[in-house]
Amino acid sequence: MAQLRASTSHFVPASLTSALICAACVAPGPASVSGPQGMEVVPEVVLAIHGGAGTILRENMSAEMDAQYRAALTEALLAGHAALEAGGDALDAVEAAIRPMEDSSLFNSGRGAVLNDEGEVELDASIMSGAGGQAGAVAGARTPRHPITLARRVMAESPHVLFAGEGADRFAAHHDLELMEPSWFVTPRRSRQLKRMKAQDAAATADLASHPVDDKFGTVGCVALDGDGHLAAGTSTGGMARKAFGRVGDSPIIGAGTWAADATCAVSCTGHGEFFIRLAIAHQLHARMLHGGQSLPRAAQEAVLQGLPALGGSGGCVALDANGTLVAPFTTAGMYRGWVTRDGTVTVRIHGDERP
Ligand code: ASP
Repeated sequence: MAQLRASTSHFVPASLTSALICAACVAPGPASVSGPQGMEVVPEVVLAIHGGAGTILRENMSAEMDAQYRAALTEALLAGHAALEAGGDALDAVEAAIRPMEDSSLFNSGRGAVLNDEGEVELDASIMSGAGGQAGAVAGARTPRHPITLARRVMAESPHVLFAGEGADRFAAHHDLELMEPSWFVTPRRSRQLKRMKAQDAAATADLASHPVDDKFGTVGCVALDGDGHLAAGTSTGGMARKAFGRVGDSPIIGAGTWAADATCAVSCTGHGEFFIRLAIAHQLHARMLHGGQSLPRAAQEAVLQGLPALGGSGGCVALDANGTLVAPFTTAGMYRGWVTRDGTVTVRIHGDERP
């Protein structure tokens, strides 16, 4: 049974990760990068989630909102961990952890996802098994209550990897998934956000009084390691607020926002998707480990903390290797995140300065 208490982790500032990870062979990062640099490196992890990276500022967050986010993250972690405890595999845990976040309007996925420029929700999700390399994804879906479940069904019940738009919705209907009216996904908060952005309100990025996050982000994702040593990763999102109709981000793109391979790592990303696609960030972590012999912390350091901002991108990820080492790097002020260790300890964090 999972329990809430402090876990052992350490925070590695970007300036030190190179020296700690490989004193001889890490090139220095770019001189100027935005956001607090560094990452948590946590051993003995079986499950980790993120609820999006962004300008999550402590001073803009009420105690009530803070508590709501922490409770929602904890609920997701407990759901994922319960799946593992019940004998489920890594894919079961990933799906179980993501589903409650898709139902929570706090996050940018499922109900409460951001709206596109036309005021509609277009949902993206993907899932990948590290055991066999199978993957499934959907982009621009408008009706599945749980896009992560739809992605998994695409993986398991079709010879294809990615369905888009009406094709994704039709696949969901043909496979008896729970469907909702497109309007069900639209929350007042997201309608207000779009209106504000359209009016080019100075406070467009956030209704600071009640929703103190940079609403452009808020994707959810999970990585898990099961008792047989198999990894899996999944990601679910509404994309970026006020995106153009039909825009697809990194989250449903295998190799960009999601990747899993038992030999290396499982990765779920969040942030400015165009950059994650151009850099193939999730697969890049895998490739650095497989072909470059890098450790996961060093791969995350170079790909996320150096390579991403060097191109002008921002965001973060959770990534887990087959030994249970978790990294949670992000270039933004905060990232909703949490993990469960082998002994059942649950940790939840939001801000960059919460890292010990
Ligand atoms: N990566 C997502 C996208 O670009 C957005 C996010 O992570 O919040 O669609």
